Amino acid sequence: MAQSEPKKKLPRKALPADARIETLAVREGLPASPWGENSEALFLTSSFTHPDAATAAARFANEEEAFVYSRFTNPTTMMFERRLAALEGTEAAIGTASGMSAILLMIMGLLKAGDHVICSRSVFGATIVLFEREFGKFGVETTFVSQTDLSEWRAAVKPNTKLLFAETPSNPLTEVCDIQALADIAHANGALLAVDNCFCTPAIQQPVKMGADLIIHSGTKYLDGQGRVLAGAICGSDKLINGTFMPVMRGAGMSLSPFNAWIVLKGLETLAIRMAAQSANAMKLAQWLEQQPAVDKVYYPGLPSHPQHELAMKQQNGCGGAVVSFTAKAGQGADAAALRKAAFHVIDHTQLCSITANLGDTKTLITHPASTSHGRLAEEQRLAAGITQGMIRISVGLEHIDDLTADLARGLDSLHV
Ligand SMILES: *Cc1c(COP(=O)(O)O)cnc(C)c1O
Repeated sequence: MAQSEPKKKLPRKALPADARIETLAVREGLPASPWGENSEALFLTSSFTHPDAATAAARFANEEEAFVYSRFTNPTTMMFERRLAALEGTEAAIGTASGMSAILLMIMGLLKAGDHVICSRSVFGATIVLFEREFGKFGVETTFVSQTDLSEWRAAVKPNTKLLFAETPSNPLTEVCDIQALADIAHANGALLAVDNCFCTPAIQQPVKMGADLIIHSGTKYLDGQGRVLAGAICGSDKLINGTFMPVMRGAGMSLSPFNAWIVLKGLETLAIRMAAQSANAMKLAQWLEQQPAVDKVYYPGLPSHPQHELAMKQQNGCGGAVVSFTAKAGQGADAAALRKAAFHVIDHTQLCSITANLGDTKTLITHPASTSHGRLAEEQRLAAGITQGMIRISVGLEHIDDLTADLARGLDSLHV
């Protein structure tokens, strides 16, 4: 369904043209309703009324932009979309029910049977399943390549390659891919680059500035930031968002609930300060972990010891992000079972950290990737991906850093290494 530009468009909020990202994070949205509310209103309504039948007809014919039905347009959802687009530096954004439904909408909008995708092997597990198993059934073929070796991406390009998909830094190893280089490979071959920006958020990394065409978000993580709701979004050009994805959303309905949109909209107001504070905490925790005798290796892009430290600092506004992984030691020649026991010992000796595989909360979260997020892989696949049984991932929150180090010290100090 091709949509022509409506003659009468919804008003925009009057904001200074040069307003900075911190300002847009609290101010971008829609004009207030006639009641003049200061905090953005939550419009929990499935449909919208029209003053007369002729206006309804004009709105359904898309001659006049207006709210019609919340499957595709809702003022609260639109405020979230405009605000997120402003932060990512894209023309537009579209909210979705979850991060996964953002990727689903992207694939449905861009690809058809016979098309080819190149995707990093280190992306979120459900993303791999969606590309490989679900869209494999519909004739979309995906080649999985190394997160960091650009020659694998170049070698995988085919005449029917339409999309390159990456996520950086990766989970749980925090490997960083070169966004500009991937954009160049995509564009030289007439393909698009989509980047899942869940781990950094636009407060730390704006992939469109490095040539990415589409940004994927799981709003469930840092955009909400307090672990309350599921949400997602795609950010990109007006042509892709409103021309390509909006018609699919109208038909397929992976819509963001206005209530969840309101939560993430308000979450965006504190995103920059949360990311800065959680990143600073993560940096201190990573440095502390590197000093612990019971810790084997620390994975954190902010550390100079990280293999892509320089690239990360360039792409991520000098911030490492708030996810730190490390491996616990279990003595000389320890086997997988001993390593798992050591990791469980450290996790079970924490009192503050929440044991959950989620991330992006103000509360610090701790997980054992090999038995949770990556538990369904075979041990050889896990080891090929660098995820050992001794590995622990921490999504660092806002607690005092000394309380966090004390929480981890309990288990680490009583490990007999
Ligand atoms: C959680 C996550 C997703 C999926 O988001 P949901 O909101 O849980 O559907 C996608 N990508 C990354 C990197 C994630 O961490």
